[in-house]
Amino acid sequence: MASNRRQFLKLSALSVTAAGLTSGLLAQSETKKGPIVLSTWNFGLKANEEAWKILGKGGFALDAVEAGVKLVEADPTERSVGYGGRPDRDGIVTLDACIMDDQLHIGSVAALENIMHPVSVARAVMEKSPHVMFVGDGALQFALSQGFEKTNLLTPESEAEWKEWLKKSEYKPKVNIENHDTIGMIALDAQGRLSGACTTSGMAFKMHGRVGDSPIIGAGLYVDGEVGAATATGHGEEVIRIAGCHLVVELMRQGRTPEEACKEAVARVYKRQKHRINEIQVGFIALNTAGEHGAFCVQPGFSYARMDAQSNVLINSGSQI
Ligand code: ASP
Repeated sequence: MASNRRQFLKLSALSVTAAGLTSGLLAQSETKKGPIVLSTWNFGLKANEEAWKILGKGGFALDAVEAGVKLVEADPTERSVGYGGRPDRDGIVTLDACIMDDQLHIGSVAALENIMHPVSVARAVMEKSPHVMFVGDGALQFALSQGFEKTNLLTPESEAEWKEWLKKSEYKPKVNIENHDTIGMIALDAQGRLSGACTTSGMAFKMHGRVGDSPIIGAGLYVDGEVGAATATGHGEEVIRIAGCHLVVELMRQGRTPEEACKEAVARVYKRQKHRINEIQVGFIALNTAGEHGAFCVQPGFSYARMDAQSNVLINSGSQI
């Protein structure tokens, strides 16, 4: 236990590189309940800190995950989520997001334009509409009706990158782009309530109207208050194909640890895409009701941030290849 503890790196270090430091090791060393919050990629560290302002005071996991991912949505330097996100091939930033609590309350928006906080629109869908998902112009109209304001999400940096991309116009999604993509966050609060949120600008230079896994409940996010929660990042088409996060949660229901469940879901992606696996990245993170956590991904380079009362650390995910 103590030696595992020593392997945790403090927030200031911002990375964990020790080869043997897998999420499984950490999960075994920390079998305690919440509050605890996990989120995808490096930017998960600062998102966790934001979520902790709520979780650390005994607040609701749903409020915490919304606040946590909003920090990244509003940050123009994070070029794969929200404001400043990379546009589609027509130069339009379209956002996907969803949110879910432990009572199967869900809300989602897809292909939403000109709104800074799609996760909060998703929450409004959940709480203020009789529906669970809005897309495109309908999502925008709903957002405006709820008081959200229009914002131009295309920053000069993203526009310049898009113009550069237009010179070749090749759709070749990069793997582990700058070590961040979608932010998915899952949390267990002090009262044992789970929630999750997931938000992204999707694959850079996608076709207009393309929707990935991130706003699809069961694909990019799933929460079951009796079992656990999971969220995904990477090539959304592959995650949707296997109903990834629902699969991870169901595997935990059958007794798998969070890491084992993520590993089995990744194995399904791998099985189908072996022939072009170098082009594919998919990563899952999972948390169960006991506060145990884990992750797994297709290829090295995916990490997730885990925060509890002791520390906020970045953990390298184990990988299939
Ligand atoms: N999963 C996201 C999508 O397919 C993108 C990502 O996480 O990189 O839209």
